[in-house]
Amino acid sequence: MPAADPALMKILNPATGATIADIPEDGAFAVRKKYERARDAQPEWAATPIKKRVDAIRRFRDCVTARHETLARTLTDEVGKPIVQSRNELNGLLKRVEFFIAEAARVLREEKVYASDNEKLEERISHEPLGVIANISAWNYPYFVGSNVFIPALLAGNTVLYKPSEFATLTGQHIAEMLHMAGVPADAFIAVIGGGNTGAALLRQPVDGVFFTGSYATGTKIGALAGKKMIKVQLELGGKDPVYVCDDVDIKAAAAGIADGAFYNTGQSCCSVERIYVDEKVHDAFVAAFVAEVKGYKIGDPLDETTYIGAITRRPQLDVLTRQAADAKRKGAKLLTGGSVIKRKGNWFEPTVFVGVDHRMALMKDESFGPIIGIQKVSSDAEAVALMNDTPYGLTAGVYTSDEKRARRILAQVRAGSAYWNCCDRVSPRLPWSGVGHSGIGLTLSTYGIQTFTRPKAWHLRGV
Ligand code: NAD
Repeated sequence: MPAADPALMKILNPATGATIADIPEDGAFAVRKKYERARDAQPEWAATPIKKRVDAIRRFRDCVTARHETLARTLTDEVGKPIVQSRNELNGLLKRVEFFIAEAARVLREEKVYASDNEKLEERISHEPLGVIANISAWNYPYFVGSNVFIPALLAGNTVLYKPSEFATLTGQHIAEMLHMAGVPADAFIAVIGGGNTGAALLRQPVDGVFFTGSYATGTKIGALAGKKMIKVQLELGGKDPVYVCDDVDIKAAAAGIADGAFYNTGQSCCSVERIYVDEKVHDAFVAAFVAEVKGYKIGDPLDETTYIGAITRRPQLDVLTRQAADAKRKGAKLLTGGSVIKRKGNWFEPTVFVGVDHRMALMKDESFGPIIGIQKVSSDAEAVALMNDTPYGLTAGVYTSDEKRARRILAQVRAGSAYWNCCDRVSPRLPWSGVGHSGIGLTLSTYGIQTFTRPKAWHLRGV
């Protein structure tokens, strides 16, 4: 039954609290209609030669380049991301798109894996699209986490129902408009607008796959639903990513790199550094350099080119950060800087550093997703490895040392999808992006992250 007038969803600027726009939200009926359009359009899109699909994505890339500054401003307005970091995200998007453009045709080509004249037998694998996929996305890097899914999914011949996060709706609308301008048919990529209820309505449709980026809490609901439907499911979830600083590092460089890994994007990255372990021999010197770095960060207007710490996108996260700080203090941690909500319009939290922390504290166990970090002293590599693995998550882990063998030995023992030596908070289009445990199921990026949007079909061909 058609819905009455759609409900309006408020889009707020988290840096000021001001309303930017009121957008109609898709209810159950609108979602159903969008699904039907995507289903009807899928065979024709899949039959479009790969070259034409790649050409459309190339034009999308050109459109992003042409509108770069407008897109950056919208992202900053609705997410509170500092403008320089919004521009960086768009530059990173262009690199990912380049990778997919360069690799898609090769990776999706049918393969001959066996041929025998004697047996008159040939075996081949073709990469068939899944069909209609649902892409339910997060707000913190909407261009990154979205494009990891919808670009290769479209290149592989799927049609996509893309639900941007309710905190990145305007960005989602820009993406849809640019893809359509680039020649992706209006029904091959459809933005589904709304919050959790709209996402749930989307999952009630008989889609062929669901690709989700978001929290573990929502991911478990989506995984359970997909399990019942027996459809492909990928979940890119949160993390509690550790970094270990060995006793042989360049302390100043390590402190600067790790502080950036913890506080970039105002700590709201799935692969933000969330806990730091430091060898006792360099602990005090590292902490001094780290805190000096953090105190130098400029907080404020996200549109200011010199701002490094922006707003907290989701207001309820201020309570999570406040509770983690209070719990750490109560259990004996020492606060070196920050620790509180900043009292001004919008959602703001001070860059915060604790030492003397341990794993009784929520700060070292639960995802913080904000500008707060605990630094814990350790006395051996073995102790560091045990602490790094003391988490249900497993997205990334890093080690800083001048000894590559030592780094490899340590990282080989850590349960994580990505391993970093002398770097952190880094994603590459050439490498698979995946999590272990509560950090998710499946992967995006790399050539595997193109094939993941296909169903490999086995061809057994016997001649006469
Ligand atoms: P979230 O789980 O609150 O929301 C994610 C998406 O799910 C949104 O689009 C939301 O509208 C939708 N949703 C909510 N309830 C739903 C339901 N019942 N059914 C269907 N859809 C529903 O997460 P968030 O706040 O947008 O993102 C932050 C989280 O995402 C963090 O935990 C972060 O670590 C994680 N993340 C992970 C990666 C990664 O690559 N692993 C990348 C970015 C963010």
